[in-house]
Amino acid sequence: MAQIYSDRLEKLMKSFTQFPGIGAKSAERMVLHLLKQDRVRVEEMARLMAEARANTFFCERCNNLTEKKICHICEDDSRDRSTICVVEEPKDVASVERSGAFRGVYYVLLGALSPLDGIGPRELRLDRLIKHVGKSGVKEVILATNPNAEGEATAMYLVEAFKPLGVKTTRIAQGVPVGSHIEYVDQVTLQRALEGRTAV
Ligand SMILES: [Zn+2]
Repeated sequence: MAQIYSDRLEKLMKSFTQFPGIGAKSAERMVLHLLKQDRVRVEEMARLMAEARANTFFCERCNNLTEKKICHICEDDSRDRSTICVVEEPKDVASVERSGAFRGVYYVLLGALSPLDGIGPRELRLDRLIKHVGKSGVKEVILATNPNAEGEATAMYLVEAFKPLGVKTTRIAQGVPVGSHIEYVDQVTLQRALEGRTAV
């Protein structure tokens, strides 16, 4: 098939497909939308992207996103440092923060165990987390990895690793989403919800 767009546009569209969930069709739509925008606005957007990338790092303590060495949560003295919530990605920190239900600190794994993809305990540097939990007066570790195969495998690995340390290890409850109907909830979710039921 003959090439429809210029090399430059084809290249730009291809670069958009590296975003999660963006296929060739969406990339095409995004680029064509961009071309209709004011030039100054597009330059501003490109500048913001480059600046965000250049100035954002992973926190030296918890791997959360930060513009400094240590993130604002690790730096906050009012946070309870004896409770660590383990999550897979920085966006999960944002979600738990938005819930307003947690006043401890975090540890971001930047992934989950996935042997098929070659991601083992060493790639995730789990020894670093285990060492930190073992020596820093941590009383409870809350495992908030995703409820899929990789997230569960990661949580189970950490449960075993924390056992000899005598630290209380908990897993966030999983169950029926608020606002949904029982009849639409899948079987596994309903099983988990029943297992994790609480007295009322
Ligand atoms: Zn941090």
